[in-house]
This record gives sequence, structure tokens and C-alpha cells, in this order.
Amino acid sequence: MLETTTVGSLPKPEYLAETEKLWPAWRPSGEKLAQAKDRAAAEWLRHQEEAGIDILTAGEQHRIHFVHGFLENIQGIDWEKKTPMGIRDNRYTVDVPTVTGPVSSPQPVHLEEAQFTRARTDRRLKFTLPGPMTICDTIANAHYTTRADMAMAFADILNNEARKLEAAGIDLIQFDEPAFNVFMEDVKEWGIDALHRAIEGLSCLTAVHICYGYGIEENLRWKDTLGSEWRQYEEIFPALNDSRLDQVSLECADSRVPLSLMGLLKDKGLMVGVVAVTRERVESPDEVAATIRAALAYVDAERLYPCTNCGMAPLPYDVALAKIRSLAAGTNLVRKTL
Ligand code: ZN
Repeated sequence: MLETTTVGSLPKPEYLAETEKLWPAWRPSGEKLAQAKDRAAAEWLRHQEEAGIDILTAGEQHRIHFVHGFLENIQGIDWEKKTPMGIRDNRYTVDVPTVTGPVSSPQPVHLEEAQFTRARTDRRLKFTLPGPMTICDTIANAHYTTRADMAMAFADILNNEARKLEAAGIDLIQFDEPAFNVFMEDVKEWGIDALHRAIEGLSCLTAVHICYGYGIEENLRWKDTLGSEWRQYEEIFPALNDSRLDQVSLECADSRVPLSLMGLLKDKGLMVGVVAVTRERVESPDEVAATIRAALAYVDAERLYPCTNCGMAPLPYDVALAKIRSLAAGTNLVRKTL
């Protein structure tokens, strides 16, 4: 009950990459880089075990960014042909690579990393993949007729990948779809269909992570325009509750998402964010416990997974570690009283 987990990404140590950056550069290269990635992943697994987290991730130590780390090995993308694109409905503009032909993945992207991770812990493992809609919001389309067509092509690739990860012993596959919170109409029209295609044939648990993003300046400015209550999820939660995904995330720490929206997800597991990623102040175990207790008014303990609000990649390493410890300690405080 109240099984703890994190959304996925965790900070990279300084021997691996530049720190506190969303798009860091790797520090070593070649074989030394491969070793450093493994070492950093193993260290995060140990930290989470020691803290008492139940469902672990390797913290995405093997990839530079949660979307591009997956796309690096996909064919059909021209990385030289950069197209300026207004990401998340023009919240910020980035020069992104361009899809110029049919996309395919001759080799699994993350299989070795999953096998490495599986061999290093007996606990349940979560593996994160970018969702099809978010991929399409991070890369330009110069080949497919519509964005939905491109999303379906990526969903097929993700499905192959997910099946291999499941076969490697991954217990839960989570698709990161921050774009779900921006293109709400598209979510209902094709976003959930694309996720269904990505999870087809899987017997492991599946999850979708939606969010208001990291604490980068562009996101903070956008949040300032959203008013005193963030009700965007209200539009898509009913459709997600009808979906075949097992778990959905929402932010409850330092957030203006009304907790009552959890009532729209009566049939799902809820990853309830109880530590914020937008501030460095570490929540105390008592604060974490208070957030969990508030959420328990809307979701029973069997369906509540205390979690981070979002990925912690851009935070200082020690801050993320302290937040994970608080997450586990605060959850234990609540468990004792159930
Ligand atoms: Zn997120």
C-alpha cells in the first residue's frame, strides 16, 4: 500500500555530465562514457533502495534528454536539418531535428540499459519512454501528412521497444506525455489512441505521466497565466480514465491542481506528486505525509503511489537525493497510521 516511486529522470553526477541543465553535455566519451552511465545508474538504484523506494528507475542516466535520448537511434530523422519549432504550443522555440522519411528503429534503443538495470536490483522497475504526442511536439514533420500519422508511426516503434523492455523484466512502462496538457483536443482525437498502440500486447503495468513541466523559466511564466486553479486536467482525465493505461500522474506538491480532479480517475492508479521539482527547498517528511493524507480524501491507499511531481533531472544531485528520502520517510509516516 502507498507504493513509492519517482516520475523517472534524476540528476546526473558531475563525473557523467554537466549538472543542473536540461540539455547537458556528456563529460567523458567512448568507453569511459558508457562506464560512467552505468556507474551513475547503479548509484541511483542503490540510493533509492536505501531510501526505501518501492518501484525504482535508473534515473535516465543513459540518455541526455527524455525525448532525444530515444530519438538518437531512430532512422528517418535528419539531425542536420534543424527546423525552428514553437514547443508546447509556442511556449518556447527550439531548433529541432526534422523527420524527412518513414521512421523506423532497426535496433532496440534502451534494451541493454534495461538489462543492466534489471541485473542490479530485485525491486520492481519502472522504465520511461517518451509518448508519441510529446515526440511529435519535439521534432519537426516534413514527411507525414498529419502529426497524428507521425505519432502512430512512432507508437509502432515504441510498442516494439516496450515489448523488449517487458521481456527484459521491466515491471512498469511509463510514457511521458507533457504535451497532453497542452493539446487537449488532440489527446481525445488521437493522443490516447497512439498510446494504446504503444502498449498493445503488453502484460506489464503501464502509466502515463502528464505534467506542468520542470521549473524552467518558460514554464514558470506559463504557469503564471493559468490562474488560481489549474483545471487543464479536467478536460482529459475522463478520457484517460476510460483508457487502457493503468496509472496516471498529477502534481500535488506546490501546485494549483485541485485535488478533487482525482475523482475523475476512479479506475486508475494515481502517481501523486508529493515533492515539487520546481524548487530546491526539500519538503520535510511531515509535509510529504500531509500531502498524501490530503490526497487520501479522493483516492484509496491501494491506488495511491506517492511520487515526485515530475522528473528531477535539472535539480542539484543532493537536493534530489534528499527529496527522495523525504518522499519515502513521509510515506512511512502515513503507513503507520493506516
Ligand atoms: Zn513531467
